[in-house]
Amino acid sequence: MQLFLLKVTMRILVTNDDGIQSPGITALAKALAGVGEVWVVAPDRERTAVAHAVTLHKPLRVHELGTRVFSVNGTPVDCVNLALLKIMPAPPALVLSGINKGVNLGDDVMYSGTVSAAMEGTILGVPSVAVSQEGGEAFQFSVGALYATRIARLILRQGLPEETLLNVNIPNRSRRGIKGARVTGLSRRRFENPIVEKLDPHGRKYYWIAGKRISWSRSKDADHEAIEEGFVSITPIRLDTTHYEALDQFRAWEPIITRGTMKSSALRSPAGSRKRVTL
Ligand code: MN
Repeated sequence: MQLFLLKVTMRILVTNDDGIQSPGITALAKALAGVGEVWVVAPDRERTAVAHAVTLHKPLRVHELGTRVFSVNGTPVDCVNLALLKIMPAPPALVLSGINKGVNLGDDVMYSGTVSAAMEGTILGVPSVAVSQEGGEAFQFSVGALYATRIARLILRQGLPEETLLNVNIPNRSRRGIKGARVTGLSRRRFENPIVEKLDPHGRKYYWIAGKRISWSRSKDADHEAIEEGFVSITPIRLDTTHYEALDQFRAWEPIITRGTMKSSALRSPAGSRKRVTL
């Protein structure tokens, strides 16, 4: 009897929203080369803040730039779909998105192409992680890459819960300056003057969405606090955003919406003597 030893190749997809030229994706791909067989499929240009957009009205082109390195003229979510369903020989064991230039904390995850790429990996059934790096004068991507590698190895050993991705943020500190890792929740943020109004040379108004972040909510175990205090922030995010605790409250609306009328006493400000109110 012959015994065959099969070397199992763990394939890892690396993508981002800063574009394939970004030093953040290079650092991540390089570091993960020691963990598995890295495939890079990333947008051909910066696509920051495109969230979960997919390209439906123009053809997508894939360019092979090197061994297992591909650029796509699409969004991060396009890249994950093409990589998993077309470019790679089989679905990867892991999707990593990043390392993004700048943090993706709290409400940022609603806008982030970096996080959406990891979300798409999760939708397609592959454990996925988004990695973002706080910046100063420069981005210390080697620090982010170190922690991304540790997290990747851990997930390959222990897996992730169903329909759950990790949103990882790295503080702008040296390797020795990082205090540790902390599991966090998403916080809420407020902007000052998020819309900046200007006048063009013809006297017509135009706008920039360019607010400065002025404050964060103080929820327990908030992700922004971990970053401020020098910890790597790890937030588990689930795809199902249903507000389960609120279901019963809204079930009381079912008969009202069905009938189209409600008792005036049930209104927040009762409408005089009328017993029933038509909606
Ligand atoms: Mn970005």
